[in-house]
Amino acid sequence: MVCPVPPGLPPPTPARPVTYNQMPTMRVLIADDDPIIRLDLKQMLENLGYEVVAEAGDGQQALTMARELKPDICILDVKMPHMDGIEVVKVLTEETIAPAILLTAYSDQELVDRAKDAGVFAYLVKPFKPSDLPPAIEIARSRYEQNIRLSTEVGSLSERLEARKLVDRAKGILMDQQKLSEAEAYRRIQQQSMNLRKTMREVAEAVILANSVSSA
Ligand SMILES: [Mg+2]
Repeated sequence: MVCPVPPGLPPPTPARPVTYNQMPTMRVLIADDDPIIRLDLKQMLENLGYEVVAEAGDGQQALTMARELKPDICILDVKMPHMDGIEVVKVLTEETIAPAILLTAYSDQELVDRAKDAGVFAYLVKPFKPSDLPPAIEIARSRYEQNIRLSTEVGSLSERLEARKLVDRAKGILMDQQKLSEAEAYRRIQQQSMNLRKTMREVAEAVILANSVSSA
């Protein structure tokens, strides 16, 4: 039903244009030493409604720009001159500047492990499609926000990464056993943590322990 506007009231303001994820426009930093890929990526992101606030051609430049502009997300090539993508991610994580997605042409396990330890939140394997970008961006952003909440519980980066790994494992168990989505599993852990006045890490450890007992 359409309600008429009572006389004397201003007309309703038109709805804001809706972006892909119905969130405020995300400000993205992109870095790749290949200008063609940079151009492509920028175009894809802008077509999807993201705002590209910075473009860097190497890791050092990416870091300088990220520190200055505080983007919502950084999309970084792995192989870049001066500083590779993984080293940049490490600093971005240590200084809690922004979450990062790594662009990689390799499905190399050693690289993936190094990236995990540096705190990478999502990957895209080249060549990627425009439709790959929004899910990767949303995963990275939401994991980053979860991580920030975790960081209020634990201090150092290595403790934080360890806590995140445990929470990720516990989420996996809950997703598997209770058929929950990742977000639901996370909320369950967060809820228990508040109810029981335990850290999320402690709740995660309890979930993992209970699982190992039940599957022993
Ligand atoms: Mg490269």
